[in-house]
Amino acid sequence: MPIFEFKCRKCGEPFEVLFRSRDEKISVACPKCGSIKVERLMSAFAGKIGNTSAGGDGCGSCAATSCGPS
Ligand SMILES: [Zn+2]
Repeated sequence: MPIFEFKCRKCGEPFEVLFRSRDEKISVACPKCGSIKVERLMSAFAGKIGNTSAGGDGCGSCAATSCGPS
């Protein structure tokens, strides 16, 4: 289960959210102030993206057809 790091844009609180699946769409809110204006941090995958020799649309390290920031 992937864990994504988020950071609240309102109060700056960093927090982690555990997703049961990569494609799960859940609403993420800051646990401190409740704001939904949060940004996802990609630190957990930063080392993989851009370090693959595979071409195509995907990054080669996941099954998603588009795994870039959107
Ligand atoms: Zn907050």
